[in-house]
Amino acid sequence: MQNTLTIPHLVDIKSLSRDQIISLIHMANNYLTHDGYQQLTLLDGKSVATVFYENSTRTRISFQLAARQLGAQVIDFSQLGSSVQKGESLTDTIATLIAMGIDRLVVRHSDEGTVATLANTFGNKAHFVNAGDGASAHPTQALLDMLTIWQHKSHFEPLRVAIVGDILYSRVARSQINALHCLGVSNIRVIAPSVLLPQEIETWPVTICDNLSDGLTDADVIICLRMQKERMPLDLFPDVNSYHQSFGVKASDLANAKPDAIVMHPGPMNRGIEIDNTVADSKQSVILQQVRNGVAMRMAILAAIAM
Ligand code: ASP
Repeated sequence: MQNTLTIPHLVDIKSLSRDQIISLIHMANNYLTHDGYQQLTLLDGKSVATVFYENSTRTRISFQLAARQLGAQVIDFSQLGSSVQKGESLTDTIATLIAMGIDRLVVRHSDEGTVATLANTFGNKAHFVNAGDGASAHPTQALLDMLTIWQHKSHFEPLRVAIVGDILYSRVARSQINALHCLGVSNIRVIAPSVLLPQEIETWPVTICDNLSDGLTDADVIICLRMQKERMPLDLFPDVNSYHQSFGVKASDLANAKPDAIVMHPGPMNRGIEIDNTVADSKQSVILQQVRNGVAMRMAILAAIAM
């Protein structure tokens, strides 16, 4: 298939137009085959490094698979076992990888803005993809989520989308909201206790709900989010049980949404906290489809990145 889109880096959803998001959705959808993904040669002779300074299962492995499906060599860098343990800085580490001829770097870091800084510093030598920076952005997750929603709902504008859980620390929620807004979704609800909402929420294109029954009413899409405990002060949520009672999505909550509503979660799930087994494993759950789409969307993103 012809690659119709070219972007230098993918740092944030905000850098993409509606047409570019739609192109990525179509490209990714075309990469899916009956039981896997197309095997292509677009990145023959190229190297893609996954450079992760934070834990990951889905994002890291799906980028590695995506790069291989496009014919690239994959280099997996993790700080554990590397010279980072000897005190090497991120900048020196990236310069080192680029000096070896790697020109596509997929980076995850706990500090917000890291990937934007790297793209500014090394942007004439390499392409950068943001695989999650702090609580700021996770554009590739949002794009695979848009693909999943499009596969089920076709048209974005009329959708009612409910995002439930830890909005405050969620880079996924920020990127999803940017993507949904860009695609014309005007009915986006966030459902969370006030301590899990950022101060700037008033400036976001969302409606705030403090309870599940209002927030899920007639929803077409329900997105559950994990509590990002690794970013929280320890005492923010002493009582997980009461959080689950109020904000954990249970089978009975689905009755408020449309009968054909889909349930999504970016993973990793904390079952019994933000989502019950009966919801995670229900017919309405598309969580494993999100995972499968992740490889195809990351193929589309790596294919679209070019000098
Ligand atoms: N996997 C997603 C992320 O890296 C969501 C999560 O960790 O809860 O942000």
